[in-house]
Amino acid sequence: MSAGELEPMTARPYILAESTWKTVDATPYDVAILPWGATEAHNYHLPYATDTIQCDALSAEAARRAWERGAKVVVLPCVPFGVNTGQLDIKLCLNMNPATQAALLADLVHALEVQGIHKLVIFNGHGGNDFRQMIRELQPRTKVFLASINWYKIGDAKAIFTDLGDHAGELETSVMMHVAGDLVRPLAEAGDGRERRWTIGGLREGWAWAPRRWTQVTADTGTGNPALATPEKGARYAALVTSRVADFLAVLSAADPAQLYADA
Ligand SMILES: [Zn+2]
Repeated sequence: MSAGELEPMTARPYILAESTWKTVDATPYDVAILPWGATEAHNYHLPYATDTIQCDALSAEAARRAWERGAKVVVLPCVPFGVNTGQLDIKLCLNMNPATQAALLADLVHALEVQGIHKLVIFNGHGGNDFRQMIRELQPRTKVFLASINWYKIGDAKAIFTDLGDHAGELETSVMMHVAGDLVRPLAEAGDGRERRWTIGGLREGWAWAPRRWTQVTADTGTGNPALATPEKGARYAALVTSRVADFLAVLSAADPAQLYADA
């Protein structure tokens, strides 16, 4: 910018990556939001950054809605690496182990703690990430109140989508069509996301659990058929998710972390 021009106002003061020190120094943030995605194959029609792009877009919109209600929230840069131990044999699926994620999380929480930002919400967009046990371990060691959200689990998605799918299926494809449609390949190029099931009953029924070997489960890396995805469905679900998360952020922003329970 040349001398004499006015410095533009930060258009999105709730996005740290777009904010300058003067704004940040003057803003008494209550809640930090840490989007956390993954870098992995998403069938033939969605890009590797799908989880990260969705986390960025949805957390920014939730923060905007909360900010407009007076909540001092700030979205941190998205962590683009998820747990992908079941996809190590798929080219450029970039695994970050849970122990590494926990170390990264602990460092960020420490920085927030000493800087006086004492509420953190992890906004997760990848099924292989699970922050609950990390939070259980970290919480007694920090003043920062910690919570995590899996955005794709919010609300009744079955009221909008025919075949949710859990990876590059109808839900995820619809949301990508809404937030980054120019990065979605034509659905005619997509595989059908057919998922092979466990042969052992307990695993198939879900009361026993083991991580899936992705290349043995799906041929196109997707699980769930994206054929019925539309940007309109994506917009409806994104509006549901971001309004619920905005409510959560606004209430959390105003809440005293020592007083979070009430009699039923
Ligand atoms: Zn995904």
